[in-house]
Amino acid sequence: MPSDCLFCRIIAGELPAAQVYADDSVVAIRDIAPQAPTHILLLARKHVASFADLSGEDLNLVGKISKVGTLLAKREGIAEDGFRLVVNVGRNGGQTVDHLHVHLLGGRPMAWPPG
Ligand code: AMP
Ligand code: ZN
Repeated sequence: MPSDCLFCRIIAGELPAAQVYADDSVVAIRDIAPQAPTHILLLARKHVASFADLSGEDLNLVGKISKVGTLLAKREGIAEDGFRLVVNVGRNGGQTVDHLHVHLLGGRPMAWPPG
């Protein structure tokens, strides 16, 4: 675990976060700067820097994260109206934390194209 990684430190319990879900491969927390009424971050428990760095057995993480995203959307009451799962990759993609995560956003209509 990189000791300077924000999300690794949250997962390890070294930094506080509003955790809403955890299993052996995924941890979910509320985003500290929510962009929608529901804004949850689905974190891979394992440190992988970005989606672009996924390979081998780590590819399974994407399926697991997707499943937890749908579960939490139902739990948050946003599944019926619809929601958005977002992955920012790299600088132009808007990624600011280099630890694999997917945003779950909902509770309001989402615009397209994204900004
Ligand atoms: P990204 O820009 O896709 O890398 O997403 C990183 C997200 O982490 C942003 O939406 C931030 O608001 C969020 N964030 C940063 N620090 C924290 C924190 N300590 N707890 C929860 N969310 C955070
Ligand atoms: Zn990390």
